[in-house]
Amino acid sequence: MEDLYIGLDIGGTKILGALFNAKGEIIGRTKKPSKASKGEAVIFNQVCKVIDSLLESNTGTLKAIGSGVPGVIEDGKIRFSPNLSWKDYPLEQNLRDKYSVPSYVGNDANVSLLGVWKHGLGKGCHNLAGLFVGTGIGGGLVINNAIYGGSTGGAGEIGHMIVVPDGPICGCGARGCLESLASKTAILKMLKSQIERGRNSYFSGLIEQKDYILKSSHLKEAYVGGDEIAIEILDNAASYLGVATASIINLLNPELIVFGGGMMEALGEKMIERIRSKARELAIPGLYETCRIELSVLGDDASLYGALSLIEDGLRISL
Ligand SMILES: [Zn+2]
Repeated sequence: MEDLYIGLDIGGTKILGALFNAKGEIIGRTKKPSKASKGEAVIFNQVCKVIDSLLESNTGTLKAIGSGVPGVIEDGKIRFSPNLSWKDYPLEQNLRDKYSVPSYVGNDANVSLLGVWKHGLGKGCHNLAGLFVGTGIGGGLVINNAIYGGSTGGAGEIGHMIVVPDGPICGCGARGCLESLASKTAILKMLKSQIERGRNSYFSGLIEQKDYILKSSHLKEAYVGGDEIAIEILDNAASYLGVATASIINLLNPELIVFGGGMMEALGEKMIERIRSKARELAIPGLYETCRIELSVLGDDASLYGALSLIEDGLRISL
């Protein structure tokens, strides 16, 4: 019987799951809504449904589960998660008890960075940074060959680097954070305000819909279709990402800065050149030249491969 491993990406709207074989290849995938507003027991139940459905069609033996979760994670517990109603929730333990296998949990941005580092473009790098652009902007750092957590595990909040003093207010309470200028949430706000000013856009009708959620695919369609407002806003967002990139280069002198996340997967090709040129303009030249600025080739799979890396680290194996 083949050894099997499960990697999970537990987000505020959906849970992605991948089944890995002993060679570290994805042999099954599934996705279910996280039902985050329905309480901690319901979310856990959704997590179990993802696991059960991955195992259903396979006869191997489950060996371990790895999970990436947004929020502050300490000792396998979700201390706090803004997008899930988990507070001091012992996810690692609960999965271990239910499936009788080792379970490992990490912060989603760090897990995605781990995926990029161990299974993606970052292979072999000693110093790299990752920015994951979606509803928010997650970040992570590898410094001297290890994920850098800082003194209490809170390091790498690249989304909350302040790039415009007195800029728009951010979810964290500060003003002008990168996330308040270049995340999908920020972009939706800017689209709304432009349309309210009477400008016409691809989004004019869409935005009036109740509970409209900005989709990366819509942004791409608008951008490619020449929508003036979308182009303006996305070009600005890319410039701010470039400003942050320059600061990261100057501060850390990394070999590689990787951009991932849903928005980058859809629009990265359009945005990466502008990010590079802004960074080139602002960073210390000698440092800029030694840093590669790339799109993550793993896309959404970065988090799943990162979850696999959590397992590899935990079990001290290499798949
Ligand atoms: Zn912030």
